Amino acid sequence: MMKAAVFTHIGQIEIEDIQKPVPKSDELLIHLKACAICTWEQRVYQGVNKVELPFIGGHEMAGIIEEIGPEVDTCKWHLGDRVVIGLLNSCGKCHYCLNGQQGACENFDHSKFVGGLPIRGMGGFSEYLAVSPNNVFKIKGDISFEIASLTEPLSCVVHSVERGEVNFGSDVVVIGAGIMGMLHLLLLKRKSARVIVSEPDDERRKLAVQLGADEVIDPLKEDPVEKVRLLTDGRGAEAVFITTPLSRIATQSIYMSGKLGKIIIYSSYHPDVPVEFSPNLIHKKMISITGTANSNISDFEKSIRLLSYKQIDPSIFISGVYELAECKKALTEAIKPENFRVIMRI
Ligand SMILES: [Zn+2]
Ligand SMILES: [Zn+2]
Repeated sequence: MMKAAVFTHIGQIEIEDIQKPVPKSDELLIHLKACAICTWEQRVYQGVNKVELPFIGGHEMAGIIEEIGPEVDTCKWHLGDRVVIGLLNSCGKCHYCLNGQQGACENFDHSKFVGGLPIRGMGGFSEYLAVSPNNVFKIKGDISFEIASLTEPLSCVVHSVERGEVNFGSDVVVIGAGIMGMLHLLLLKRKSARVIVSEPDDERRKLAVQLGADEVIDPLKEDPVEKVRLLTDGRGAEAVFITTPLSRIATQSIYMSGKLGKIIIYSSYHPDVPVEFSPNLIHKKMISITGTANSNISDFEKSIRLLSYKQIDPSIFISGVYELAECKKALTEAIKPENFRVIMRI
């Protein structure tokens, strides 16, 4: 048997003893060491994301190989290897998966059974998972499991920034300075962009400047569209990344964009309030609007390298670390708006 933190009802998470997974002959048994609590799990806990309960959350996970199935390539995988797990919700077989777009998987399902667990869910809030090596990525340096658990969120931002096709020296706006906005900022600075961050919270704006933001805008005190135009000699930005789930900001971003600009809608919307926009403006300015969600195997590989080789240091975003037994406290802390990421140590 093993311990898992299980969502049992809305607003309830309990430690339960459940059957420990047994790896199949082509699987690895991973002893999880850390799992970060994503906004997705916070929404499950709050009843915003509807899932069939009971449910085991957690998809930002890192651990250690504890058992190797007899058919697994032992030249590549060794007992004690430190790893992260990813993309358990993609099928690996559909049109998109086979074209390297696992994040767009046709059978993407948060609520399937994964990792040999007897309860549905993403599985990270448990002690062990049995998974295919295809879902396992090696940590390459001495970074902590807590840092490594941020591979998944960083991989989603890698995917987003690549969809933005940002060039050296581009004027880029990031709307929102939560952890996702901040990770955009860090990656965009690595791309030598000039990054303008729009964020109403004073502390977060200060932190954005510390982390390399070239300009910051307080959208409560100044008109962000006017400010972006002013900062870009009237042109508007070459790319606008939206990490704030407010529909009106999606409209605003169209006016922030310059000619040939790209708008990348990173956040999801709850509620999903439709907005109006001027098709003529899109036409005349030749603006591209695109969404981004999830990530692919290639993004995971890039993300674990960025973290392992310390090209990106997200340690400032770890707002708290709690033991699995303290899962209630961990969820409560994770939901507090002033916190970035809270991690469960397993
Ligand atoms: Zn996540
Ligand atoms: Zn698929």
